[in-house]
Amino acid sequence: MPTVRRSVALLGATGSIGTQTLDVLRREPEMFELVALSGGEQLDELAAIVKEFGVRRVGVISDGHRHTLAALVGADVDVVVGDEGLSSLAASADIVVNAVLGFAGLPVTLSALKAGKRLALANKESLIAAAPLVARVRSTPGAMLLPVDSEHCAIHQCLASSPGEPGYPDVRRLLLTASGGPFRGWSRDQLRGATKADALNHPTWSMGAKITIDSSTLMNKGLEVLEASALFDINVERVEVVVHPQSIVHSMVEYVDGSVLAQLSRPDMRLPIAYCLGLPVRLDHGWGAIDFTQDLELTFEAPDPMAFPAIGLAYEASRLGGAAPAWLSAANEVAVAAFLADEINWCDIVDVVARVMDGYVADPLDSLQDLVANDATARARAHGILDQ
Ligand code: NDP
Ligand code: MG
Repeated sequence: MPTVRRSVALLGATGSIGTQTLDVLRREPEMFELVALSGGEQLDELAAIVKEFGVRRVGVISDGHRHTLAALVGADVDVVVGDEGLSSLAASADIVVNAVLGFAGLPVTLSALKAGKRLALANKESLIAAAPLVARVRSTPGAMLLPVDSEHCAIHQCLASSPGEPGYPDVRRLLLTASGGPFRGWSRDQLRGATKADALNHPTWSMGAKITIDSSTLMNKGLEVLEASALFDINVERVEVVVHPQSIVHSMVEYVDGSVLAQLSRPDMRLPIAYCLGLPVRLDHGWGAIDFTQDLELTFEAPDPMAFPAIGLAYEASRLGGAAPAWLSAANEVAVAAFLADEINWCDIVDVVARVMDGYVADPLDSLQDLVANDATARARAHGILDQ
């Protein structure tokens, strides 16, 4: 089938999602043209991608990074800087992949939707923090928000058979699956001895460091509850977490008649990335294909709320509303960074977030300025707790 070649901006190109997206693009040169990129600290890697794909527009985080990159790629590549640079790149292609890490991805999410682009969103933190602001720009003509996060991509596929009325009246609940991470089954006592190497050793997925730590605390699943609520405009009370250690069922939708639709595949992020890029066309690479002639065990269990209180914090943040999800995500970013820098123990991560949330004062989120101020306040409180 002849297809129109679509331009792609890949922001956060040097990371785990970024490099897997490049793998998809390499195999589909007739369908997609990579026209814009961004990265953080890994400038040699970024320069190599610029050269391989012949990209002419690149975003970096500071003027210093701009000078270094310009020396590597030459003068005919336009290097833009900071949030403004990311915003302009996110408005410059048919499809925008937001693979930036953390709150820093916010300009990409808002700008792509405002410009009426297809946004393939891996960066859950921006949606969670800015849900009311994202809801406004989602209705821009042409704008389409597609989730790269495997659970939400699964739900997107399972909802395709639903008439899509607002609020999904025929859906009873969304069932988000969780691998349970490396510490599934560990007691609170055992968890006190968890090391960084243990926490980075995810049983089923290979991902960037921050989300791997989030998966070990199950904060990732808490964030995903908030992400699901924002993406599908559904109350968190209709979103449930189910631990499924094999990571084959990526999530499920239960309808009011008791029927459950699930999406299954082997765990490979190239599959949801390719789904978001190709829709309505499914790319023919078989990345997630399951061999049903081999033994396949699928088990499900409830998460342990005592050992993993992060999920409960996320539900509470949603009930509080306003800027509470932004506080939760910001405090978590600070705590995870401190853990990765060997400044705190694993158990301290969620404790720090809980203490920041204890101090949350209800604050509506009406503007970008509100959001930026709330993000800064939550970070300052988390740093204050870390300094004690
Ligand atoms: P990585 O840490 O591997 O990559 C992050 C990317 O963002 C890198 O290109 C990095 O640049 C860049 N970056 C980091 N900080 C900044 C900043 N302050 N400003 C601009 N760019 C920055 O993360 P992942 O790929 O694992 O995750 C990316 C996003 O996707 C996260 O939101 C994560 O939650 C989400 N996600 C990831 C999944 C996965 O399988 N990895 C699955 C589902 C969701 P550099 O490396 O050059 O410093
Ligand atoms: Mg996920």
